[in-house]
Amino acid sequence: MSGFELNKLLRENIKSIKAYSSARDEYVSNGSEMIFLDANENPYENGVNRYPDPLQRSLKEELSKIKGIPSDQILLGNGSDEVLDLIYRAFCEPHKDKVITLPPTYGMYQVLADLNAIEVQQIPLTDDFLIDTKAVLNNLKDQKLLFVCSPNNPSGNLLQEEGIEAILNSFKGIVVVDEAYIDFTDANSWIQRLDEYPNLIVTQTLSKAYGMAGIRLGMLFASKEIVSVLNKIKPPYNVNELTQERALERVQANDQVLVEVQSIIESRTALIEALKEVAFVEHIFPSDANFVLARVDDATKRYNQLLEKGIVVRNRSTQLHCENSLRFTVGTSEENKELIRVLKTIES
Ligand SMILES: *Cc1c(COP(=O)(O)O)cnc(C)c1O
Repeated sequence: MSGFELNKLLRENIKSIKAYSSARDEYVSNGSEMIFLDANENPYENGVNRYPDPLQRSLKEELSKIKGIPSDQILLGNGSDEVLDLIYRAFCEPHKDKVITLPPTYGMYQVLADLNAIEVQQIPLTDDFLIDTKAVLNNLKDQKLLFVCSPNNPSGNLLQEEGIEAILNSFKGIVVVDEAYIDFTDANSWIQRLDEYPNLIVTQTLSKAYGMAGIRLGMLFASKEIVSVLNKIKPPYNVNELTQERALERVQANDQVLVEVQSIIESRTALIEALKEVAFVEHIFPSDANFVLARVDDATKRYNQLLEKGIVVRNRSTQLHCENSLRFTVGTSEENKELIRVLKTIES
């Protein structure tokens, strides 16, 4: 095993920290109708006059069912961004600790490292966007965290299972597998491997497949021990009542989500086929996500031409191995048709 010990990895001040005790944490219900005069709320009912459940119990119960994992192994946050920040704050001592990223990858790992004064050691993916497993294994030392994004943003592909396994087996720190796009692939989620690896954290989000970017709901799955530390340091009411309600409704309608995801996957295939017919598209990278990265002749020129026609895509050209590459989110089939129509008119 990797020699992982949770208590050794935590920041010193976090080990002894006491969670904020909210008004609602301090009583035991006697089972009958209660009168709440403990939290200085406005007593007149309007649906949101009460503080939300700080542990989001109803929502976690529902997530527990669809994800097949106990509620006490789930932590929810105001988007994945908050969840990732909590991981930094639990484990990384500012100005001292280091983390590893595998670029090109999601920009927030670096932004959050900068915010927390943590040094990032980059170990690039190969030029076909796979983990350079040897290089990673050779560079594992006393870093606290290693971020793996699979399917990876901005490239769209899944990273190798064997590579991630090898890292989990050797790394004394925590491996964070960011699965923001996991619903768009047939591959198994790493959630299923949590019992094997005490140093594994998996993050997911309702922002992509679940179509709820606007409500900000990020999910983290890990051992009970890790979740309980993070629960202690999170802001008490980090997921508001409106978000909890909307998320619960959506997760209960999981079948509808699966239908939409299936249609996005079909549109992705159609978009890739259509992009192949565009003369200035030079290479299309394989995608297990809801976007497609493509190398073109001149990304800045094509980006601006699309913008002029009212279509906004993402120019990822400044990212490692992504020279002249545009990232196309899969839209509705009408939007994709319009994209292709426009791409063909600007070809010349
Ligand atoms: C979009 C995305 C997220 C989602 O972040 P939220 O804060 O939950 O909206 C997380 N990770 C990656 C790699 C993403 O692309």
